Amino acid sequence: MSNTTQQFRPQIYVAGKWCNAQSDRRADIINPATEEPLGEVAMAGKADVHAAVSAAVAAKVAWAGSTGRVRAGYLRTIAQGVSAQRDQLAQLQTANNGKPLSEAMIDVEDVIATFNYYADLAAALDAEQDQQVDLPSADYHAVLRREPCGVVGLIVPWNFPMVTTAWKVAPALAAGCTVVLKPSEITPLPELALAAIIDQAQLPAGIFNLVTGSGAEVGAALVAHPGLSKVSFTGSTVIGSAVMKSAADDVKGVSLELGGKSAALVFADADIEQALDIVCGGIFFNCGQMCSATSRLLVDSGVAESFIARLKQRIETIVVGDPLAPATQMGPITSAQQYQRVQQYIQQGLASGARLLTGGGRPPGLEKGYFLTPTVFTDVPLDSAIWREEIFGPVLCINTFDSEDEAIRIANDSEFGLVATLLTADEQRAARVSAALQVGLVWVNSGQVIFPQASWGGMKKSSIGRELGPWGLHAFQEIKHVISAVRK
Ligand code: NAD
Repeated sequence: MSNTTQQFRPQIYVAGKWCNAQSDRRADIINPATEEPLGEVAMAGKADVHAAVSAAVAAKVAWAGSTGRVRAGYLRTIAQGVSAQRDQLAQLQTANNGKPLSEAMIDVEDVIATFNYYADLAAALDAEQDQQVDLPSADYHAVLRREPCGVVGLIVPWNFPMVTTAWKVAPALAAGCTVVLKPSEITPLPELALAAIIDQAQLPAGIFNLVTGSGAEVGAALVAHPGLSKVSFTGSTVIGSAVMKSAADDVKGVSLELGGKSAALVFADADIEQALDIVCGGIFFNCGQMCSATSRLLVDSGVAESFIARLKQRIETIVVGDPLAPATQMGPITSAQQYQRVQQYIQQGLASGARLLTGGGRPPGLEKGYFLTPTVFTDVPLDSAIWREEIFGPVLCINTFDSEDEAIRIANDSEFGLVATLLTADEQRAARVSAALQVGLVWVNSGQVIFPQASWGGMKKSSIGRELGPWGLHAFQEIKHVISAVRK
């Protein structure tokens, strides 16, 4: 870990150069497993945002005019740079975020796959440009162009820092946009490492810029900057709504990836062994800090008693501790603030009349670090805060259902609609329930696998737009038709 502490200078990356922020303010970045500082980063301000957006504006026309093939070349070089440093990047992700190293490796692989996928899509753009459009009249000829949006502001959270960043940076660059990235103030180190890789890829100056700092200052200034055409934001629903309001002043486009309170549905005919694994992964992976966490478990009342008893046994064997240790299955919560927030929800759960099945405290022997035992409540009131609000920690809430219709009704009774997990051996039921769930992605008898080719995002207050796949690229493109009268 000491290697990772030395890599960082408290600087921002603007117009192809590392530079000091205009004020000399800095903040410590904390390792959540030890509560020790990992390094300092610059807390930039409005003037730095202006410098970064100006650099992106200056680079915009040349980058938009480059071929998709050229852009694909840079994306592949970035993927290779990430691949060459995969071990260091995984360690850094673990040090800054607290996730087990095995999970951090999955993140790094996802980043590589995302840059390579959007390299392929960028390369394909040249042949797709000026595609002829079928018209019902021989008097006109029309072609379709997809053009980059322009300068885009990209704002990301702390739970999968490198991944959420790659899902925006790769398609934005592929589309021909120039970008200003603002990482989370809690986990900026992986993005600083990614910026160094992009710098080594010799992307021309101004196409990619990174400004570290707080959301209230840097994030808000970026969203409000008139030089931006679009904001792509991943974070909480509350801040996402504020971003949308601010962007509305200039009628900027927004893509939003926000919160969730997703359900896992276990039917009596499910493979119970597999269901136990999938339910645990859906809430304790990344210490439950997933927008897609299936934090509401609905179990068929026919099997509920035995299923919940086996789940309790399984959960109590989860190894919580040092995220660098190979045996660790769950690391700490990522920040002191989030640690407190999750504990407050546990108190609210106790006060709501829900029954604490297991967990709810600090694991024995772990005196430092933001560690919490995997926590489960049963008999959770359907109107309680722990059932309805996103906790964003390792807290599972369980209820039962008596019929398929009831399961669907309870699952859909949420202001969020990101994902769902469905566990059943009945294929017809799987098709029926998948169609009825108001979410953007359903996993059937599967853990939360993610492919760059499939979309990411949801319905209701979980998202506006979709990331990944061609939809992730289209989010950074404008549509233009050119209709010409045919000469007679
Ligand atoms: P957050 O909303 O507090 O912060 C997200 C980012 O926004 C950070 O970089 C922050 O500095 C910045 N920010 C804060 N205030 C801002 C403002 N006024 N203007 C502009 N930017 C501002 O979220 P968080 O606590 O970092 O992350 C957790 C949340 O992210 C959860 O709600 C989670 O569900 C969500 N999330 C969603 C997805 C998804 O794909 N749907 C993925 C990951 C996380």
